[in-house]
Amino acid sequence: MSLIDTALTEVERHLDEDEVVGLARDMIRIPSIFGNEARIAEFIASRLESWGFSPRFVEVPGFGPDVVVDYGDPGLPKVVLSGHMDTVEVMSGWVHDPFRASIEDGFMYGLGSLDMKSGLAAMMVALKAISESGLQDRLHVSFQAVSGEEKDGDGTRTLIRAGEFEGARAIIVGEGFGGLNVVTAGRRGGSYYEIEVRGKSAHGAIPHKGINAVVEASKVVLALDSMEMVRADGVLADDLAPLKESQTVLLMHGGTGSLTVPDRCTMKVVRSTVPGGKTDISDDIRSVIAGLGLQGSAEVTFKSGPKDLYLPHMTSSDSPLVRAVVSSVRQYTGSSPTVVCGVSEADDNLIAQETRVPVICVGPGESGNLARYHQAEEAISIGQLGTAAKVFARTVLDLS
Ligand SMILES: [Zn+2]
Repeated sequence: MSLIDTALTEVERHLDEDEVVGLARDMIRIPSIFGNEARIAEFIASRLESWGFSPRFVEVPGFGPDVVVDYGDPGLPKVVLSGHMDTVEVMSGWVHDPFRASIEDGFMYGLGSLDMKSGLAAMMVALKAISESGLQDRLHVSFQAVSGEEKDGDGTRTLIRAGEFEGARAIIVGEGFGGLNVVTAGRRGGSYYEIEVRGKSAHGAIPHKGINAVVEASKVVLALDSMEMVRADGVLADDLAPLKESQTVLLMHGGTGSLTVPDRCTMKVVRSTVPGGKTDISDDIRSVIAGLGLQGSAEVTFKSGPKDLYLPHMTSSDSPLVRAVVSSVRQYTGSSPTVVCGVSEADDNLIAQETRVPVICVGPGESGNLARYHQAEEAISIGQLGTAAKVFARTVLDLS
């Protein structure tokens, strides 16, 4: 018998929906732009302590510490609730004070309101309701508030290295891209390439004596831009269109500024990869370049270092984790969420590739014009915050 049958009513009774809004508001009022998470980490730890938990700090070099709480029987497989404490910088265009968390017409405005202090607050209140229901012998939950997500994911990388995911059976990142009617069960990966085109220098007034690497590299850029992209059959992207690969030239650099034919031009390219697709397409790039009959030479390097490569992942819709989340959302919202694959790489790529534990993202969020992630006037409709906390709590019970 699942804990849903025996403990859900009790947990719901202890769950205070208004507390989620108050807690999100308190956290928005503590600025925590990446690299400056020490104060919010302190706040989260002391709030958890006041609720009877024993939080731990895990130091993250260059960032505020991660905050970790374990609740329940360590002998049981654990469900991890993970969220990041940091935000991006203050973008231009704010009308509301980004650190005031003012509420207007049902929306709370503030930096981190969507991304992702509301999700963090909902997970904390869910954990509180579970502990007040006295379930410590019947389940195992780990709550992780991490730093540095908006940079390179250092907070999560630290927890992976520290073995904090060992014994986990499921991981929920409480960031809702699109809100509760969307479950991000996977993510595209990112494979990065450096391409160096070599030409031959000459005086800039007699260009025919040289080989212009910038001109040759431009032919490469245009060819890369028309490469064919693979589609992931039967998988939807977070804009609900069929999921496909994409490729972007991120950078092009060449020439010296003097009156000289440039002999070198470098480019950086990312292929956003899909589950089931190829990770390394450097041979495909090489054959596209070979077909151009360039003067000069081109070298393609696939970047496979730990901070270069993000593998795509997708947790099956039939997995206990996705099924538990979908049925919890349906119970509290009345409709089934759409299961999608996110197009951008994020912390859950790292978690999936390093731990191999099923991981998904779900939580409070907005879609369409209201999805002001990394934008001025970021805001969240507060009506969904209590529902999100219930979804987290019920999902944990379902999996326990
Ligand atoms: Zn985020």
